[in-house]
Amino acid sequence: MTILSTSTAATVTLRAHTVRTGLYIDGEWRSTPSTFPVVNPANGEILAEMADGGEADARSALEAAVAAQDDWRAWGPRARANLFHRAHALLMERAETIAEIMVLESGKPLAEARSEFQLSADFFLWYAEQIAHLHGTYASGSTGGYRVVATHQPVGPSLLITPWNFPLLMIARKAGAALAAGCTVITKSAKETPLTSAVFVEALHDAGFPPGVVNLIHTRSSARISSTIMADPRLRKVSFTGSTGVGSTLLEQAAKNITNASMELGGDGPFVVLEDADIDLAVGQAIICKFRNAGQACVAANRIIVHSSIAEEFTRKFVEATRALRVGDGFDAVDMGPVISSDQRDRLGRLVGDLVESGAELLVGGREIAGPGYFYEPTVLKITAPDPALANEELFAPVATIYTVDSTEEAIRFANDTGYGLAAYLFTEDISSAIVASERLEFGMVGINRGIMADPAAPFGGIKASGLGREGGHDGIYEFLEPKYLAITVDETTGTKR
Ligand code: NAD
Repeated sequence: MTILSTSTAATVTLRAHTVRTGLYIDGEWRSTPSTFPVVNPANGEILAEMADGGEADARSALEAAVAAQDDWRAWGPRARANLFHRAHALLMERAETIAEIMVLESGKPLAEARSEFQLSADFFLWYAEQIAHLHGTYASGSTGGYRVVATHQPVGPSLLITPWNFPLLMIARKAGAALAAGCTVITKSAKETPLTSAVFVEALHDAGFPPGVVNLIHTRSSARISSTIMADPRLRKVSFTGSTGVGSTLLEQAAKNITNASMELGGDGPFVVLEDADIDLAVGQAIICKFRNAGQACVAANRIIVHSSIAEEFTRKFVEATRALRVGDGFDAVDMGPVISSDQRDRLGRLVGDLVESGAELLVGGREIAGPGYFYEPTVLKITAPDPALANEELFAPVATIYTVDSTEEAIRFANDTGYGLAAYLFTEDISSAIVASERLEFGMVGINRGIMADPAAPFGGIKASGLGREGGHDGIYEFLEPKYLAITVDETTGTKR
């Protein structure tokens, strides 16, 4: 690794990939007087010193986005779609670079980083394909004498705030929708994973996105940056992915200027295994759903809820599969990498301690793995008497909790007994139970006999404390568009007069 510059934050070379470490504002990479370190969670080493954006940078990025907005929205759909296709081609050329950068700063295994890359590129392509297919409607006015033309317009300059757990997917999914809709954007990276967002934005720059259309800010003081931008009424949209607490703060800030807001927030996903489920399928999918990204996923199985008639077999097989997981550096042949930070690892120690103290039985794992790096054993706990204070906590960790129920009714009631409503999972061989039970599950998404759901063609998002709005599918682009109606007076006799 060579850090070419720290204070001017120019570039860093990592595994032969050169990555920009500055802010990207108005088409230029900029340095800042101070920097902050990015750490490789697999070994605790500093990977890079990133430019640390402040309030003046935030204002400058907003100015650039506002100045570029009128020209960008005027681009014809075909020209904008062509630009997206160029950017997509560049992303594909850089696939391995981007995947490796993700492994370095997030710790996820290379195979997971490659899958995340592919899904992100697919989302970007999905939005490119939507650009030229946005249609309006035309109708006669109800009382005659006018026509109703309804169309959509870009919301306007948008602030996109993303978390560290899916460093590429989160930015590609938001920026793809916003830019396709004709909005200019200021993206605010997570301080743990700014390098991935830098390589993504560099691909957009190289493809020819005009200055000011895309802006990128890194910072160690997110609250200061976002509150500065949110206070300005020229910002018309905030799209946030992260914790429910921060989402709620942003909604309060959005209220002041009635800023349009989309929120992808926390989850408490129930993974329900009914008595007629294919147990081996359920075990395999539960392992992916729980331990992918070391459990640090909003859609992870947070409560595994199993019918008592199959609980013994399910639990035995799930514990065996958990014990077989290989943990280590994401570049080695492993199934699971480190957690994101030493703070996160220490939190897990306390979490597992609290669960055991509340009566949970530890079946496997439950210890941190000696460093360097922030590793924790894949852990399974059996819960017989749920502690209300812990049962609905978002674990966000490689820690699985198994609960037992005696009926489908009890399973659904317990599944719904949460303030969150993002993703739920249901395993049954009976199609009728699957349909009826999934309709009763109060979640934005239900995986039936599968533990992974993200797809560009699907509307991703949650209800209740899990958020507002959807990303992807036909709905995603409309988060960045608003309806516009033209009432056009006509003389109904005109056509017959001449
Ligand atoms: P977080 O809320 O702490 O941080 C998310 C982003 O917000 C980061 O960029 C962070 O720098 C920024 N941020 C932090 N405090 C802020 C503030 N006061 N004002 C403005 N920005 C602020 O969340 P995290 O720990 O990075 O991510 C984990 C959470 O994200 C979990 O709750 C998880 O469920 C959720 N998540 C949800 C989805 C989804 O699609 N629903 C996807 C991934 C993660």
